[in-house]
Amino acid sequence: MMPLVDPFARAISYLRVSVTDRCDFRCSYCMSEHMTFLPKAELLSLEELDRLCTAFVRMGVQKLRITGGEPLVRKGILTFFEAMSRHLQSGALQELTLTTNGSQLAKFAEPLAALGVRRVNVSLDTLDPTKFTEITRWGRLQQVLDGISAAKAAGLRVKINAVALKGFNEDEVFSLLDWCAREDHDMTFIEVMPMGDDMGTGLRLDQYWPLKDLRARLTDRFTLTELPDRTGGPARYVRIDQTGQKLGFITPLTHNFCESCNRVRLTCTGQLYMCLGQEDMADLRSPLRASPDDAALETAIRAAIARKPKGHDFDYSRQDVRGQMTRHMSHTGG
Ligand code: SAM
Ligand code: SF4
Repeated sequence: MMPLVDPFARAISYLRVSVTDRCDFRCSYCMSEHMTFLPKAELLSLEELDRLCTAFVRMGVQKLRITGGEPLVRKGILTFFEAMSRHLQSGALQELTLTTNGSQLAKFAEPLAALGVRRVNVSLDTLDPTKFTEITRWGRLQQVLDGISAAKAAGLRVKINAVALKGFNEDEVFSLLDWCAREDHDMTFIEVMPMGDDMGTGLRLDQYWPLKDLRARLTDRFTLTELPDRTGGPARYVRIDQTGQKLGFITPLTHNFCESCNRVRLTCTGQLYMCLGQEDMADLRSPLRASPDDAALETAIRAAIARKPKGHDFDYSRQDVRGQMTRHMSHTGG
């Protein structure tokens, strides 16, 4: 079958799939405390998610990242991982992975590892229990730390993702890094993005801490060596010479990655977003539900990829929020 290639000659080999918009946390930069979730009937069933992902794998997707919302709160999620693991076994899929808040990992780490998951990204912005509950509103730090330990014990490689938040975890940059070095976790800092509906309050603009400032702070203590690693996404990597750690920076606001973008995002309702920073999307649920045969679905996927834009429009540079997205990260899948 013809692989998926967009109009800018970028091969689409990476699909991120949000399997639910629900979550057991309410991180302040991601959701409002009284978030309304989609009616369950709107969601794709696990069988539908399987069919859709399988179509993408057939069309050349080699890496699948499961996200949400919190993917591990979706009922029956292991059934879905099990279904995807058959593509690992066949060799069609190179990697099956997930991004999680870690709250359910104590329960799921072992079965996930048994199904062929090798790596997991865990979001953790602070190691202070009080601050953790402040930022996640509903989370308990110890539960996440236990989940991370379980992941490690199950042989999963852990990467810690921390959103860099001004006035919140500025003072924890070194302690987070030290902890990751001790525990042998990789680490990535993420710039906060203008998503969701709290933007009108200016909340996230106040919280915006450019990673170039964070980097400058790191160089007070460390020598950073640029690494050539590219994943086709917005991450750039450095080696910290003093500790040997690999550290990632995700700077979606600095237009430095679109030209090599290899990914698309599927929401839990079957909408395909060709770019995280653009409103354009394609509804794949209708062709999926219209026929048990995948021909119409494949046509819809190709038509969508043919509309993948060159880049996105996020821009904080003028101190207002341009290119702001009204949808939530938990819907599109971060
Ligand atoms: N619940 C899972 C988790 O927290 O890892 C997966 C979904 S969450 C939406 C994925 C990632 O998006 C998390 O690392 C989270 O910190 C990040 N995120 C959420 N809202 C964000 C925002 N406004 N700007 C930047 N990153 C954000
Ligand atoms: Fe939930 Fe993840 Fe959003 Fe936090 S960032 S509210 S854990 S989906």
